[in-house]
Amino acid sequence: MALLVAAFGVHAEDEKFPTGYTDTPQLPNSPWRVHDDNRPRPRVVTPGKADQPAAAPSDAVVLFDGKNLDAWQSENGGPARWKVENGYAEVVGGSGDIVTKQKFGDCQLHVEFREPLPPTGNSQGRGNSGVFLAGLYEIQVLDSYDNLTYADGQAGAVYGQSPPRVNASRPPGEWQTYDIVYTTAHFANGKQSVPGYVTVFHNGVLVQNHTELLGATVHHALPRAVIHEVDMPLKLQDHHMPVRFRNIWIRPLGDK
Ligand code: MG
Repeated sequence: MALLVAAFGVHAEDEKFPTGYTDTPQLPNSPWRVHDDNRPRPRVVTPGKADQPAAAPSDAVVLFDGKNLDAWQSENGGPARWKVENGYAEVVGGSGDIVTKQKFGDCQLHVEFREPLPPTGNSQGRGNSGVFLAGLYEIQVLDSYDNLTYADGQAGAVYGQSPPRVNASRPPGEWQTYDIVYTTAHFANGKQSVPGYVTVFHNGVLVQNHTELLGATVHHALPRAVIHEVDMPLKLQDHHMPVRFRNIWIRPLGDK
């Protein structure tokens, strides 16, 4: 039971999380292991000052405007049970991941998040959540401000695969932005024919530049080959930490 609980991130606030691993598999075409504790951490970059929330462009699908989670549901189909107040949605630990009712393929996605203040926990235990593209590929949400953890688990990482180019985190308590361009993998004859890619700006700073997605996100193991539809729900992670989200919008890119 203890192992199971740990795997789902239920933990006492004083539980210490490892800052990395040396017993994990080697990533393909890389000198580094998954969550490698020896992999150099990205250098710190101070992003520009935050402005007001970026207004959604006229052709965007607004997924959360601060009022309700009507565009979302819990992963097993019931209502999304995160707390909505004061213009944000906050993860309620144990209420489960939330997914969009609508499905998306290639897209431009804007998400704003705020890490808990004061910060508690360390490494992966500090402000952990995640944006799962296609519900499968995690762009890690973490309080990576002065918080040592493995490079491929930092904020802006493709979790377990690709560290951010730099650490552009703002301090906890400040709103942060992800602007993400996602192009879906395609599959034919039971295997991947075209890989998926992701580009991510964290607080306006490029952290993933057309990064190939190696497979679905997994903890402590190699990415998993998953065949999926082009259009899939977007998912936000309940990692049992009260991370807040606001101003979420998406522009489906379709064939254009
Ligand atoms: Mg996460």
